[in-house]
Amino acid sequence: MSKGVLAIVSGFSGAGKGTVMQRLMAKYDNYALSISATTRLPRKDETDGIQYFFLTKEEFETMIAEDALIEYAKYSENYYGTPRAYVKEKMESGQDVILEIEMQGAMKVKEKMPDVVLIFIAAPSVMELRNRLVGRGTEDEEQVNRRFEAAKREVGHIEDYDYLLINEDADVCADEVHRIIQCERNHIVCAENKVENYASFIEKMRKEFSAC
Ligand code: 5GP
Repeated sequence: MSKGVLAIVSGFSGAGKGTVMQRLMAKYDNYALSISATTRLPRKDETDGIQYFFLTKEEFETMIAEDALIEYAKYSENYYGTPRAYVKEKMESGQDVILEIEMQGAMKVKEKMPDVVLIFIAAPSVMELRNRLVGRGTEDEEQVNRRFEAAKREVGHIEDYDYLLINEDADVCADEVHRIIQCERNHIVCAENKVENYASFIEKMRKEFSAC
């Protein structure tokens, strides 16, 4: 059996990638979405083992020491990392595996596994991003600002990704993620969404961020 595709979905905090992943998983049954470990506290609607494995700093550092993570990064003062065992098992069984992770971790995976497919999800504008981030109400003001600062740094590195999606509608965006991964599975480049085609959009985002 051929090995599954490994795809990474990253994006600015507030771009809606969590919802896109939920829609993708609800609509298509051939994906395995990796559950990350994190030291951040669960939000009101989150359950251990569903959205994340919520660990203490000591537990997380034990996983690092045991080389049980494919990658990990510090983001907004917390550790986040991808447990190795699940990804390996699912890929070997032929399933396509998706990691929804931030940029530093994505680049570490790319170094180790150059065949990984990198997809970046952006909001249509910086104002829309800020509105979504504040509007979802899951972070306090300090956290919102920290995440916004992270997005400002991330906008400088979008070209390191293979594909860019502008999330105006989570269902459409989920279908696009599906299309890209299925193209890649068949060794076809999904030309429409290649990051090279979005130079003017990326430039616009950079200008909007630098004006904030
Ligand atoms: P949140 O706290 O909003 O759930 O996630 C914050 C950021 O951490 C998001 O960009 C999310 O994609 C990223 N993230 C989630 N899991 C992982 C992981 O296992 N590794 C890395 N590097 N980033 C992750």
